[in-house]
Amino acid sequence: MAVNKITVGDFQITLLSDGLWRNDGGCMFGVVPRALWQREHPADDDNRIALNLTCPLIMRGDTAVLVDTGIGNRLTAVERKIFDHGEGWLPDGLRGLGMEPGDISHVVLSHLHFDHCGGIVRRRASGALEAAFPRARVIVQRGELEIARSSRNERLRAAYRHVQECLAPIDAALEPLSGDTELVAGLHIRVTGGHTADHQIVEVSGDRGECFVHLADIVPTRSHIKGPWNQAYDLDALRTMEVKIDYLVRAIEGGWWISFAHDDRVLAAQLRSDRGRLVLGESIPMMPLKSTTGS
Ligand SMILES: [Zn+2]
Repeated sequence: MAVNKITVGDFQITLLSDGLWRNDGGCMFGVVPRALWQREHPADDDNRIALNLTCPLIMRGDTAVLVDTGIGNRLTAVERKIFDHGEGWLPDGLRGLGMEPGDISHVVLSHLHFDHCGGIVRRRASGALEAAFPRARVIVQRGELEIARSSRNERLRAAYRHVQECLAPIDAALEPLSGDTELVAGLHIRVTGGHTADHQIVEVSGDRGECFVHLADIVPTRSHIKGPWNQAYDLDALRTMEVKIDYLVRAIEGGWWISFAHDDRVLAAQLRSDRGRLVLGESIPMMPLKSTTGS
């Protein structure tokens, strides 16, 4: 069985997935022409490419921090077809570790787009939504929350139209943050901006310089390690590029692990420089795992 675990200091990191889905290739690669991206990411007849929903689970003792929650099971039948998303992956992945949703102590949401916060709630057979991780504190930037809840901008309102439905059942668990913080010793949350104004990432460090970083939508796929390859969704693509190069250079120097929020083949990788070009080094492939519960 392929290994999907990384050890950093006394943290164990498991790269869970909320499953594969599809989204418009042009949106995923912004200004990059299709002729370039389709070699690595072939599009279907609807111009959609295969993507993953990587959710790192960072554990030490009783602390279990889940980073992002995927799409979950709240989509309507029509939306499920548009995004070609199957259900049940994240709960199945937890069960595979011998864990239950109630074992998650913290959920860190990088931002509040539906493919990152949708799984914070679960739709019951009755149709009602409930907290998917009933004991978790839910960490999100205060600025992200404010924009998601009250922006009057047409584009932002569309991007966050699901937020009320996702956050109402977990309102009491929400812990809005203002800026960077060390959530537990060795686990930092840092605001990057770029993709959204208050997009945040998670960085886990050990005593000997080892490090794992989930850059979320700053480097969504293996192809986005290239500087100009950024999503059309980015509100500040130049900021995304700055943050990206800063992290990737340090990742090469320090032998860090970087996980990819949406890559359909690679969950995480170490990077190296090959004649001035960034390339993947040792990597952890996407597990050939298929959900069976569909719950
Ligand atoms: Zn995303």
